[in-house]
Amino acid sequence: MLQHLNNIRVVLVNTSHPGNIGATARAMKNMGLRHLTLVCPDDFPSPIATARAVSAADILESTVVVDTMEEAIADCSLVIASSARSRSMPWPMMTPPECARKVLQDVPSNQVALVFGREDRGLSNEELQLCNYHVQIPSDPECPSLNLAAAVAVILYEVRMQLLTGEQAAVPGDGSAAVGGYYREDDYWDVPKANGHQMELFYAHLEKVLTDIDFHDPEHPRLLMTRMRRLFGRVRPDTMEVNILRGILTQIEWASGHKK
Ligand code: SAH
Repeated sequence: MLQHLNNIRVVLVNTSHPGNIGATARAMKNMGLRHLTLVCPDDFPSPIATARAVSAADILESTVVVDTMEEAIADCSLVIASSARSRSMPWPMMTPPECARKVLQDVPSNQVALVFGREDRGLSNEELQLCNYHVQIPSDPECPSLNLAAAVAVILYEVRMQLLTGEQAAVPGDGSAAVGGYYREDDYWDVPKANGHQMELFYAHLEKVLTDIDFHDPEHPRLLMTRMRRLFGRVRPDTMEVNILRGILTQIEWASGHKK
């Protein structure tokens, strides 16, 4: 089961201090992870990051750097944002142990992203809305915000602890779907979950059709598309379900005379 940790990537968005990138790599290596993706870092590669990584410099060497969070999570079907604050729009929220359980259920057959925000202002609302769930470390309200690399260490420690202790989960059927005490969701599900890229194509298609049929006004969007993202992000449809939904949208386009 430890090898499944390779299906987890840590994503740091727009990090300002290279020292935090190095300290994150070190925390990842301590907890048995190796895939780090940076979205628009201010200063990377950097000797400061390498010095802080100590024996985890190899993680920095294989770190992937991308321009947008969408790119960082395109092939992931479970995306969890670590966030110090709850935002105006409520989103499915987990504690670190719940997050670890969810990650371990998914990780045998899916790519999973754990996303962490900027040192000064965390993740934007748009970035948070690209995620299925949010996880919050229940720190003291007097000083709720942890150092970035410390937050990464706390979340990954919880994943590792639950993996090592192999908490038993309810297993459908004969129990053969259990790995390391964890029930593998996709062993009894027939179709793989849709990934971030497929969901983005679906949301773009949905928004276009809702605009064409005058249900949605992009000039006055209110929270319609945010609510749609929250709904489908919670459901986590599989690829077949997304294809059916896209087929329905295409048929609506045709039936309403807006077929392109
Ligand atoms: N001042 C920022 C916090 C930035 S700390 C804000 O108010 O949002 C940098 C990152 O560390 C955060 O984006 C988050 O990913 C993580 N982090 C820090 N404290 C956390 C907490 N209590 N729970 C979950 N994540 C936290």
